Amino acid sequence: MTIQGVPVYPGKPCPHSTGSGCDDYANRPKDPCINFNCGWVIDNSPLPDWMKPENAKVIVIFNKTTWRNLPVDVAVPVGRRIPPRALNWLKSFAAQHGRPLLFSEQVKENGVYQREQLFSAHGPPEFQAHITRLLSEGKPLW
Ligand code: SF4
Repeated sequence: MTIQGVPVYPGKPCPHSTGSGCDDYANRPKDPCINFNCGWVIDNSPLPDWMKPENAKVIVIFNKTTWRNLPVDVAVPVGRRIPPRALNWLKSFAAQHGRPLLFSEQVKENGVYQREQLFSAHGPPEFQAHITRLLSEGKPLW
């Protein structure tokens, strides 16, 4: 993401990050900061207690986009990959509730995180094909 013109990605935190908070919270930009809805803190979050990001090592954004009128959720790792327990929970939730899921893995080369993330799709085969096509065409996923 870009914060006030500064690229931010794994290994390159936001210049306003103190490591435990934001040093300019009152002036944080609307997009993405104010608009960001962490799936853990939203009202009536379906995430169980153990899926708190600092424990489960995943950040979930519900309703990030839609596909054929279905809500699509997005999950990104805290670290390189979403741990299997958390990813399995998310896949099961997606299947039970008919919510296609996009999840990512951070790209790391020579021990250094890159800007890119590798996205995978979980859900109906048509959804997976749709995401594969968007990725191959270099188009945004949402
Ligand atoms: S809330 Fe503050 S620290 Fe977090 S991304 Fe926004 S400006 Fe940066």
